[in-house]
Amino acid sequence: MTDRNFLKAMRIPTSTDPLRVLVSACLTGITCGYDGSANGEYPSVLKLLNYDTVRLVKFCPEEFSFGSPREMCDLHGGTGDDVLDGKARMLSESGIDWSEGIVRAAEKMAEVARREDVELCVMMDISAACGSQVIYNGNRFSENKQYQIGAGVAAAKLMREGFKVISQRDHASLEILYSKLDPMHEMNEKAIDWHEVEWYKNYFKTV
Ligand code: SF4
Repeated sequence: MTDRNFLKAMRIPTSTDPLRVLVSACLTGITCGYDGSANGEYPSVLKLLNYDTVRLVKFCPEEFSFGSPREMCDLHGGTGDDVLDGKARMLSESGIDWSEGIVRAAEKMAEVARREDVELCVMMDISAACGSQVIYNGNRFSENKQYQIGAGVAAAKLMREGFKVISQRDHASLEILYSKLDPMHEMNEKAIDWHEVEWYKNYFKTV
């Protein structure tokens, strides 16, 4: 669940002092996805490329440790937080234990976030590395694929260090962000965040 009050309280950036935002690199069109694609296009985030009031810091934790293209990977036995604590594992599709590599990548991403003094992170949800709210619980290609509430390994590390993370599906939060980047932005008052979507509420029984 995103912290919209944090976003509302965020400063108004300018072109000479842009907002520093860390993004999952694939969300900006970089082809760092497991299959060498950009994981589809999300206009909700690609729009960030149009503003000079934001400085994007792009990073792909999986590419950092495993290169692109690479095998698909998922979390087994827990969330990204559990992987950071050594209680769960990230496995590649063929069953190779990638936990150590992804923890190293998460540490690198947090190091980049600190060095660049980022003020917000916008990350690809559902990813075992970048997800901030929903991730798979085990192999996503299994017949009985399951989702769980939780963060991927890199997003969990960033949140532990106090960075605020929103996802590409947090449309209400992104509306607030765009209103900060552009004084002419017309707010879509009907926009909702990921945890308010019917699928999310039904699947996780949060209604
Ligand atoms: S690890 Fe993150 S940045 Fe890299 S492809 Fe996956 S979601 Fe995108």
